[in-house]
Amino acid sequence: MAIREGRRRYGDGDVYNVCMGSCTCAYVDMGDWKEYESVYMYIVERKYADGCSKVEKRRIREKAQAFVVNDAILYHKNQDNVLCRVVVDDAEKTRILSSLHAGAIGGAHYGQNGTIKKVSDRFWWRNVANDARNFVRACTVCQKCN
Ligand SMILES: [Zn+2]
Repeated sequence: MAIREGRRRYGDGDVYNVCMGSCTCAYVDMGDWKEYESVYMYIVERKYADGCSKVEKRRIREKAQAFVVNDAILYHKNQDNVLCRVVVDDAEKTRILSSLHAGAIGGAHYGQNGTIKKVSDRFWWRNVANDARNFVRACTVCQKCN
């Protein structure tokens, strides 16, 4: 399945390439997506997968409160009710991290906090802050500078 990519510009001038979300590339055979698929299905169709127990159904309903679906794309609501697109594909996570970490004009790299903020303002996945921190730590360009 082809990954549809696009360039998206944000208010602060960042331009980066990401999967535009309307494709289904990330949503196939992904462990994480399985989990969010049931939330997605509940939000969109108010339905559960076959064989869901009462407890599982309640868990899905509770979880669904933190998510919304817009235009067939699943978003997570952060504390300020800002919608962050749910990302489940590891390759896409890496792409997002690298373009937001080193996306500054002139080749500057954002530090840990800056990178975490830029990523988590727009995207959501479990441990997103941790992944961003580890990404910056492992960045060879940043290691050379410090
Ligand atoms: Zn770096």
